[in-house]
Amino acid sequence: MKLVSLCVAAMLIVGCGTEKKNKADVDRQPGLIGVPTLGVRNACAANSRLALSSPKSESEIYHYSYKNVPICSWYGRTLNLDSGSGLFIGQLEGKLGSLVVDEASEWPESQVVTSFIAGESGVLKADAVSADRCWYLTPELELLPAYDVTIVADDRTIKAVASGDQIFEIGSGGFDIGRISYQLEGQIGSVAFLETDSLDGSGFLAGKNFEVFTNNGTERAVSTNGNFDFGKSDFQFPQASAYANAELMLDWFDKLTSKAVDTECFPIDIKLHHVFVGGTVNNARYQPDVNTATGRPEILVGDGDGVRLTNLGTDPDVIAHEFAHHVVYRGVKDTNHFESVVIHEGLADYFVYSKTGNACLAETVCPLGSFDCIQPRCLRTGANSMSFVDQNLTSSPHGQGQIISAMLLDLANLIESQSEIPFVSTVAASINYLLPRSHLEDLIQALMLADRDLNAGRFACDIYQMAVDRGLGARIQHLKCAEYEAQK
Ligand SMILES: [Zn+2]
Repeated sequence: MKLVSLCVAAMLIVGCGTEKKNKADVDRQPGLIGVPTLGVRNACAANSRLALSSPKSESEIYHYSYKNVPICSWYGRTLNLDSGSGLFIGQLEGKLGSLVVDEASEWPESQVVTSFIAGESGVLKADAVSADRCWYLTPELELLPAYDVTIVADDRTIKAVASGDQIFEIGSGGFDIGRISYQLEGQIGSVAFLETDSLDGSGFLAGKNFEVFTNNGTERAVSTNGNFDFGKSDFQFPQASAYANAELMLDWFDKLTSKAVDTECFPIDIKLHHVFVGGTVNNARYQPDVNTATGRPEILVGDGDGVRLTNLGTDPDVIAHEFAHHVVYRGVKDTNHFESVVIHEGLADYFVYSKTGNACLAETVCPLGSFDCIQPRCLRTGANSMSFVDQNLTSSPHGQGQIISAMLLDLANLIESQSEIPFVSTVAASINYLLPRSHLEDLIQALMLADRDLNAGRFACDIYQMAVDRGLGARIQHLKCAEYEAQK
């Protein structure tokens, strides 16, 4: 708004639009830019990888910068295939010649920007604030001076790209459980008992992988003998249940990859009975380490109000889905970018469906008649025929994520009849090829590359065709699936 009024004032004197915009010569610099860590402890290296079967194609990630200041959130990846041909992942590379910048651009004081965002968001006292210069790339391909801002207050995290009093992107810096409607039959989860040696002996539900807290004053579950076998009506049951479900999902990923999942990023704090900003309890969220005050990744879980949602702390799929975000976050890190979130949600749901063997998410969280669920019992479903070119395509990232999870389930059905290697391993390996800000075509490319690593590219053209069937044809027509088949 401020820019518009300045322009109107200037027009009276010299006419508007006289500012000089030059072509911006953008540099490529290797690696990720430093991700600010707000907390006391750096739990995860910014570019830590998923410890999967190592990618066979040489690959280098880089960020773009202009005058040594990074372009906010944009990355690319080059690959050298053994066939000698080079491949590229990323959607900015082809546009580099069109970027412009007003050479008179100046950065406002970072404090002005962070104070404005805090004020707009109603934050009274921040625990930690960081603001790093970057160029915001507008849809018109102009570079504007901006800051990558993270604010952690005691009840929330805010992640924004902003300049002066303009906020270009803003979000929670995490991934929510979300809700969406689609028809499918559900199943009810059952109660089981987990034996584990992962506890640290403190008497709390704490260990090298996870630690459980409560965020509403509820006492923490305690046991002097390591036995947290509480009845379902015990107030400590949700805590024990969440810990067990998190361990089970980690164990599943470990077996899937035959290596530990990136152990440098543990432990993860699981905070139950959380009340989200605005008073909502109908949510769960994964918050990466760089966006928390403690420097440890967090899974926040509300109780549900019993009308829209319920049992969020005890449902196995809720914790499993949020933990899957932790795994996907090793590759995709942009919490404000729509397609990155679609990919995150789609992959997180798909991993849960793969583990449970059914395409219904979170069977126990839906009270009868809830509008947030696919009746009778699913929060979301991977059994659907939705497409990205549907006329009434939902604008929710969780909704669109269902197209990804369904496409991957279809591929698993097709490929597993012909291969010993479970397709879910290919999906997990594709995370290594994704970019911090990934687009849908990047995901398809990453899947074909992972298939190349694990199956010599046998199924690259099946992956391509399935993406076409889900409405991505126009987006990926520049890709040639045959290039991903390894040389015989
Ligand atoms: Zn999610």
